[in-house]
Amino acid sequence: MNIALIAHDEKKQHLINFVTAYEPIFKEHTLFATGTTGKRITEEVGLSIERLQSGPLGGDQQIGAKIATDDLDLIIFFRDPLTAQPHEPDVTALLRLCDVYRIPVATNAATAEIIVRGLANGWLDWRSIQDSVGAYHE
Ligand code: PGA
Repeated sequence: MNIALIAHDEKKQHLINFVTAYEPIFKEHTLFATGTTGKRITEEVGLSIERLQSGPLGGDQQIGAKIATDDLDLIIFFRDPLTAQPHEPDVTALLRLCDVYRIPVATNAATAEIIVRGLANGWLDWRSIQDSVGAYHE
């Protein structure tokens, strides 16, 4: 599966801790991340990640483009709901595309935990079945 990892600044350490805890699962998949998030995960967890632009510089939009081209299967996005973000429109657009294309998206650790455990149990395998019959379009 292709997984995107994103965290706002106040949530980056939470995501590092989360990815560290589930590293045996994440290492089995292809990982993408926005710039600073990806840098920290690479340095602190040691996972290989394709880094995109930093979120405020277009990274969220790059993730969105990958959703639109059916190149991502899961988004884990630890948002900071208490801090105004300069790229809030990009965040909204990204979450909207997850709904358009029915991409599983976790915006907090509690949901991410359930989804990652489900991932390990094969509960997201429907994504590859869907891939084989073409991307979903409403
Ligand atoms: P960053 O971007 O990983 O480059 O900090 C995340 C975001 O703020 O969307």
